[in-house]
Amino acid sequence: MSREKLLADVAVEVVICTLCPLSKSRKKAVPGEGDPKARVMLIGEAPGSSEDLQGRPFVGAAGKFLETLLCGIGLSREEVFICNIVKCRPPRNQPPRPLEVQTCTRYLERQMEIIKPKLLVALGSCSTAYIFSRAHLLFTGITAVRGKISRVVLHDVQMTIFPTFHPAAALYSAKYKEQIIADFQLLKKELETRGTV
Ligand code: URA
Repeated sequence: MSREKLLADVAVEVVICTLCPLSKSRKKAVPGEGDPKARVMLIGEAPGSSEDLQGRPFVGAAGKFLETLLCGIGLSREEVFICNIVKCRPPRNQPPRPLEVQTCTRYLERQMEIIKPKLLVALGSCSTAYIFSRAHLLFTGITAVRGKISRVVLHDVQMTIFPTFHPAAALYSAKYKEQIIADFQLLKKELETRGTV
């Protein structure tokens, strides 16, 4: 079966999922979107209000900034795969609860297994904590690990993990904005030197 079809099947399951309480309060589930053969997968935390209305990831203010960051390293959102740890919006934009992460990441795992990206960009603390634990890496906080590259094997594939701040952080802090821009420049170098795209 093609990657498109396999991803579409995951998306259908996400849309009808009732495995956790977030399914009761969501308007639309947000499976994720992008190139089924993407070499770069960007993983956020959870949909916000714009994403919940549209059923698409990173379409609000943080998404606009993410698109600018991608453009700065020569990528468009169509060339990558963008998704979240948790596929439904937590009420009041609360961080997802451990049980919600544990329940929902079955979908992210299948997306990773199908796409087999070379580079995982973990956006923010929630995403980085999950990816680090999956890869048996010690997560000491996003400030400590952001911009640092780890090479791991996930789903029998060599993957590079690149954590950075969540793009929403840049919307309220000039310091975070500067640091996330700097991290994306490191990412650009990584992509150029290792030919990951
Ligand atoms: N923040 C996220 O983590 N994901 C989205 O899709 C939107 C905002």
